[in-house]
Amino acid sequence: MKWRNKGHELDSIGKNFSTVEEIYIYGAGENGTLLYEDLKIANIKITFVDSSIQKQSLGYLDCKVISPEEFFEKTPNSKKYFTVIALGSNQISVVMKKFVLHGFREGIDAYSYKNFTEFYLPIFLMYYSQKLYVKYLDVSLTQHCNLKCKACSIMTPYIKQPEHKELAALCQDIDLLFQKVDYVHSFFLIGGEPLLYPHLEEICEYIGSKYKRAIGHLVIASNGLVTLKERLIKTIKHYNIEFQISDYSKWIKQTEGKMNDFINTLTKFEIPYNRMVDLEWVDYGFRNDTGRKEKVENMENFFDSCGIDCRGLENGKFYYCFPARMCQKVLEYKEYEDEYFDLRGDGRKMELLEFSLGYNEKGYLRICSRCNGSYLNNKNFIPVAEQL
Ligand code: SF4
Ligand code: SF4
Repeated sequence: MKWRNKGHELDSIGKNFSTVEEIYIYGAGENGTLLYEDLKIANIKITFVDSSIQKQSLGYLDCKVISPEEFFEKTPNSKKYFTVIALGSNQISVVMKKFVLHGFREGIDAYSYKNFTEFYLPIFLMYYSQKLYVKYLDVSLTQHCNLKCKACSIMTPYIKQPEHKELAALCQDIDLLFQKVDYVHSFFLIGGEPLLYPHLEEICEYIGSKYKRAIGHLVIASNGLVTLKERLIKTIKHYNIEFQISDYSKWIKQTEGKMNDFINTLTKFEIPYNRMVDLEWVDYGFRNDTGRKEKVENMENFFDSCGIDCRGLENGKFYYCFPARMCQKVLEYKEYEDEYFDLRGDGRKMELLEFSLGYNEKGYLRICSRCNGSYLNNKNFIPVAEQL
């Protein structure tokens, strides 16, 4: 979206949240728990609605739990609260219908979990409590990698002289980030392969000791082909760091043994992980410049339909599309000042929120004209992890 009223683009949505005094989370299960964690920074009263008799009598996460019957009997729709239906996707439409029949308005005082967490949550947190929430953020620690994937989305194998980031510069970036951002839901340490970074322990220690409370999930995104050292395991355990593993063993057979060893180590030390096995890759088109050559008037629509969720941090700058930023560097495309948010500048939190949600000066990034889009609007599937 193009900035037309910078700093006030979200006012019409945000004003609905200014009168709120309490939030009901309908469903005290997995989604409800995740939502509760994200809402904690708002310091707002939360009540759960759940049919579990046990939860009603004991409470849940230090909150009161009422039954669905009591909720619909005693809770008229009011500007003082709203409800998020945090049930499984198969139940949401049935329950939302019930809400509408009881006079609630979808998107005003009743939200589905998906809509709320994917769109409204950062707006609520900013307008209610002036807290800036970012859902996903990548920080690259190194350009070195132990694989050479031909279609690497960040073009790692094409970097002529890969480098490790300076530890002091990374720490400075992270300090700058948290001067403006209050909470990052998932903070990814990426590479290349981050386990090849010689200061990994130190950077985990730095982030863990200073900012863990401002991070929901601190995650190392790895291909799982490096042996974990004992000292690193201790740090990972201490700060409850998680792994996201791209498992390429289906496509690169010779990695199977190392992958299994890696998983066994995580299991042995009870380190949480998300192992991604059924991967699908799309071709952004940057590498051979095979991306669309789009007319400028269509660019804003294309950018909006892309909806990529990969914000990134580098050299004091906050990027909307981190894969594009990484490829831009490798391909030596010009970087434009109006396409990143300078964390050293005097831009306000509200503007950074808008930027993070997809507003910018032109309504798109110039590099989008060379790109086929993200996995949401791009059907150019390519082989996963094919090696050079
Ligand atoms: S996709 Fe990942 S594992 Fe493959 S080259 Fe790129 S950074 Fe390395
Ligand atoms: S269209 Fe391509 S370059 Fe533009 S935001 Fe989406 S993924 Fe990034």
